[in-house]
Amino acid sequence: MPKRLRTLLAALLSIACVSLVVGWQLAGSQPNPAKTEPLFKVAAGPTYWKGNLHTHSLWSDGNDFPEMIADWYKSHGYHFLTLSDHNVLSEGERWIDVNAKTNRDVAVKKYVDRFGSAWVERRMKDAKTEQVRLKPLAEFRSMLEEAGKFLLIPGEEITHRYAKNPVHMNAINLRDVILPADGKSVSETIVVNLRAVREQQKKKGLRTIAFLNHPNFVWGVKAEDMLTEELRFFEIFNGHPIVKNYGDATHVSCEKMWDIVLALRLGKEKLPIVYGMVTDDAHEYHSYGIGKTNPGRGWIMVQTPFLTAESMCKAMDAGDFYGSTGVVLKHVKRSAKELSFAILPEEGVKYKTQFIATMKDTSLASTPKIDKDGKQLDVTRDYHTDLGKVVAESDSLEPSYRLTGKELYVRAKVISTKLHPNPYQKGDVEVAWTQPATP
Ligand SMILES: [Zn+2]
Ligand SMILES: [Zn+2]
Repeated sequence: MPKRLRTLLAALLSIACVSLVVGWQLAGSQPNPAKTEPLFKVAAGPTYWKGNLHTHSLWSDGNDFPEMIADWYKSHGYHFLTLSDHNVLSEGERWIDVNAKTNRDVAVKKYVDRFGSAWVERRMKDAKTEQVRLKPLAEFRSMLEEAGKFLLIPGEEITHRYAKNPVHMNAINLRDVILPADGKSVSETIVVNLRAVREQQKKKGLRTIAFLNHPNFVWGVKAEDMLTEELRFFEIFNGHPIVKNYGDATHVSCEKMWDIVLALRLGKEKLPIVYGMVTDDAHEYHSYGIGKTNPGRGWIMVQTPFLTAESMCKAMDAGDFYGSTGVVLKHVKRSAKELSFAILPEEGVKYKTQFIATMKDTSLASTPKIDKDGKQLDVTRDYHTDLGKVVAESDSLEPSYRLTGKELYVRAKVISTKLHPNPYQKGDVEVAWTQPATP
C-alpha cells in the first residue's frame, strides 16, 4: 500500500474512533426521556408557603437596605416577600445620604458586614456626606432567591388619601409603578386605584392581587366604603403599632369590620367575599420591641404547589390562604358544607377555636351614632350585635364546623395561650384566621 494511502486510512480510522467515543459520551450525557423527573413536583398533600406582602425599605420610609430585609425574612423561615414601598417600585438609579442627620450609620455597617464591602456601592456627595446606592430589585434578587425556597415578588404600596382619610393599597406582582389616582370619595379612591392594578394585569398578561391596607389608620376607611366589586382583600391585621387594629370605644376592630363587610356584601349587595390579609408593615429593623414597626408580627400561609408569584396570586384569589401571628394550621378545608382544619400544636400551648358567622336572618340595618346635640358622628355605625357572632367553639386540635345553609358565611379564629414574642400590642397571644366559607 502506498505510504500516502496508508496515512490517509490511518487518519480516517482515528476520526471514526473519535466520533464513536464522542458519540458514546454524548449519548451517555443525554437524559433518558423515560427516566426524567419533573423539575417541579406537586407534593402529595397541601403545601403552605409563609410570606409577608407589606414591608418598607430605604426605597421609601423603611430604615434598612432591601437585601438586608429580604435576608431577615429568608433567615426567619419565610418563603416569599414583597418589599412594598410608598408609590415606588425599587428600580432605577438611587443613592441615599449617610450623615449625622440621616442616622444611617448602623444600617450601613450591618449592610457591609453581611454582604461585604465589594457589594456595597459608596461614594462621597460632598466633604460631609457619604452616599450609598440602593440596589434595584432586579439587581439583587438573584442573590437571595432560591427555587422552591425563597421568592421576592415586586410590589408597591399605592399611598393616597381622600380628604383627610388615608387610602393605602398594596399591589402585588406589578411590573410598572402605579401612581395614585383621585376619587370623589373614599370608596371611589379605592375603586379607581384597584382598577389601575387590574388594567396593568390585563395589559401585561400578569396575575396580580391588590388589597386595602389598615382601614383603621387615622380612621380612614369604614366598612361601608368596602362594598365595591373591585375590592377582594383587606388587612384584618397589620403589625404597625399605630394602625388601630383593635379599634376604640367608637370604632370597631378591623376584624369586626370584616364581619360587617362580609355580611353587607353577601347579604345585601350580592358582592363576592373579601378575604382577610395579615401583614407586618415593617419599617424598623435595628431595634425591636413593642411600639416599633418590626418584622415578624403577622403573615399569611398560602396553599399552592409552586413558589412562583403567579401561583401565589392565583391561590390568594381563590382564598387558599390563612393569616397568622404564630398559630400553624394544616389541611384547611373550606367548602359549602364544611370548614375544618388541623392545628399543629406546640408543647405546653392550648388552643381554642371560635367559629364566627352572620346568619341570613340577621338584620343588616344600621344607624349612625349621634352626639348629644343630635349631630351625626363620623364613627362606626351601630349594627345588630349578631353580626359576626361566635356560633361554635372547640378545644379540639381538629376543629370543624358543618354549615347549615342558614349562614351568610362562617370563618374561624384560633386563639392560643402563647404570648407573641414581639407583639403588636402588649399581651397579644398568637392567633390564626381562616378565610370565610359560604354555603
Ligand atoms: Zn400604609
Ligand atoms: Zn405600609
